[in-house]
Amino acid sequence: MFTVSKRPTINEIHSLYKIQKATPSQIVSFFLNRISSLDSKLNAFYKVTDNHAIKLAKTQDQLLEESKNFNDLIEKYPLFGIPFSLKAIILAEDLEFNASSKILKNYIAPYSSTVYTKIKNSGAILMGIVNMDEFAMGASGESGAYGAVRNPFDIDRVPGGSSAGSACSVGSGEVVFSLGTDTGGSIRQPSAFCDTVGLKPTYGLVSRFGVIPMASSLDQVGPITNSVIDSIAVTSILAGKDLKDQTSIDSTDLIKNLNNLYKKQNVSSRKLNKILKTSNPIKIGVPKEFFIDGIDINIANAITQLIVKLKKIGHEIIEISLPMNHYAIAVYYLMMSVEVAANLERIDGVRFAMQENKYSELFFEHRDKYFGEEAKRRIMLGTYASSAGYYDAYYKKALAVRELAKQDYDKAFQECDLIITPTTPEFPFKIGEKTTDPLKMYLSDVFTCGINPVQIPGLNVPLGLLENDESSIKLPTGCQILGPELSEDRIYTLALEIENLIQEK
Ligand code: GLN
Repeated sequence: MFTVSKRPTINEIHSLYKIQKATPSQIVSFFLNRISSLDSKLNAFYKVTDNHAIKLAKTQDQLLEESKNFNDLIEKYPLFGIPFSLKAIILAEDLEFNASSKILKNYIAPYSSTVYTKIKNSGAILMGIVNMDEFAMGASGESGAYGAVRNPFDIDRVPGGSSAGSACSVGSGEVVFSLGTDTGGSIRQPSAFCDTVGLKPTYGLVSRFGVIPMASSLDQVGPITNSVIDSIAVTSILAGKDLKDQTSIDSTDLIKNLNNLYKKQNVSSRKLNKILKTSNPIKIGVPKEFFIDGIDINIANAITQLIVKLKKIGHEIIEISLPMNHYAIAVYYLMMSVEVAANLERIDGVRFAMQENKYSELFFEHRDKYFGEEAKRRIMLGTYASSAGYYDAYYKKALAVRELAKQDYDKAFQECDLIITPTTPEFPFKIGEKTTDPLKMYLSDVFTCGINPVQIPGLNVPLGLLENDESSIKLPTGCQILGPELSEDRIYTLALEIENLIQEK
C-alpha cells in the first residue's frame, strides 16, 4: 500500500510510480475518494469527471507497465498520471463549462482550449471542473450560481476568487494542481487565501484560445500548485506562442530558462537546507504605497520578517514608489467592466445553451433571469463607461492612467530587479462578510489588480499559516513577487528561496 501526503506535489506522485508503489489507476481512485470525502463541505467541484479519469488512468497503467525507464516516460509526459482540476471557463471538449453561471447551464464545449490540450498531452489526468465566481467576477468564490466554495483551512471563510475551486481543490489536496485564470488577481488572491503558489503570467505568455473571456486585454491562464517547483513545471508547459491566439507571444528563451531551472532544482537530493547566502543576490524593491492603512498588521509583520531574512542571505532591499497604484482599482474596474460588457453581449441564453422560443423576446428575458447580480452590475458599469457620452470621461481616462502606471513600473524596474508586496491586505474573510458591499469586496484586489493592465507577471508565494486577530485558527497569507515582462524565471528563482526560508522556521 502507498501513502499520499495531505497536499502532494508532482514529484511525490512520480516517486510512487517510479518505485512501482502505485499505478495511475490507484492514484486516481485515491484522489476520487479524497474528493468524495472532502468536497461535500468544500464545494470546490462542479463536476467530478470520474469516468474520464478512470479510463485515462487505465491506458496510463499500461504505459507505465511497458516502460523500461520511468525517466524516459517523464521526459515524454512530464505530468504523467498527475490529477488536476480545471476552472469552469477553460474549455475541454465534450464537457460542460458554464462559468458558474445559470445562463450557460448545459453548454457543452465543442472544442478544447490550447492550455487543456497541452496539459492533457503532457499526461495529466483531469479529475473535474471546479466552481468559480460567475464569469470570473469576484474575489470570494461566493458569486457562482452553484454555491459558495469554502476555504480548506476554515470552512466558515472564503477561499478567495474568482479561481475559488481551483485554489481550494489544490490547498485541500483534492488534486495536485489546477488551472485558473487571472484578470485582476483571480489566481494570486485565492492562492494567498488557500496557501498555494499561483502565477499570473506575462500577458501573452499563455494562449487564451478556448478560454471563455472576461476582459480580453487582461485575462491570463496560470497554474495553482502546492510548491514553486510544480508551478515551474506547469508554466513551462503552458507557455508558448499559439497560432490560434494572436495575442500570444514568442517566449522560446524564457521557456528554455524555465526548463533549466526546473531540471536544476527538481533533483531528488534537493534538501531544504538552511540558506546562509543566496547564490543570486538581487535588488528587491518594496513599494511604500502597499503598506496602506487597513492592511492587517500580522500580514505587514510577516512581510517585514521576510524582508529581514532576504537581506540576511544577501539580497539588497530598497524602498520604491508606485504612486499610480492609488488608482489601480479605478483603472482596473473601468477597463475590465467595459471589456466584460462587450464580451458578455453574445451571452444571451440562446446561442450557447439549449433554449426554445423566439430570440427577440429571449435576449432580455434570459439575461435578466440568468445573470447574477455581480455580472449585471459590471455589464451596466461597462456599458455606461463606454457609451458615447461618457467614453472620454471614463474609459479613455482609464487607458491614460494605465499608461502612467506602466511608466511607474518601468521606472521601478530601472531601480530594482523584482518587487515584493503583500498579495492581499487581509486574511480570508468570513463567508457572507462582503457580499452586500461590492466596494469592500473590490478592495480585496487592491494589491493584485494593478498589474493586469500593465501586463507584467506576478506570483503568490505562501508565507504559511499565521496567528491572526481574526480567528483562533491559523490562516494562510502570501507575498506577491512582481517582475518585468517575461521575467518569470527570475521570479521563480526568488520564490524558491522564499519557500525555503518559510519552511525553514
Ligand atoms: N476579483 C477581481 C474581480 O472581481 C478579479 C477577477 C479576476 O481576476 N478574474 O474583478
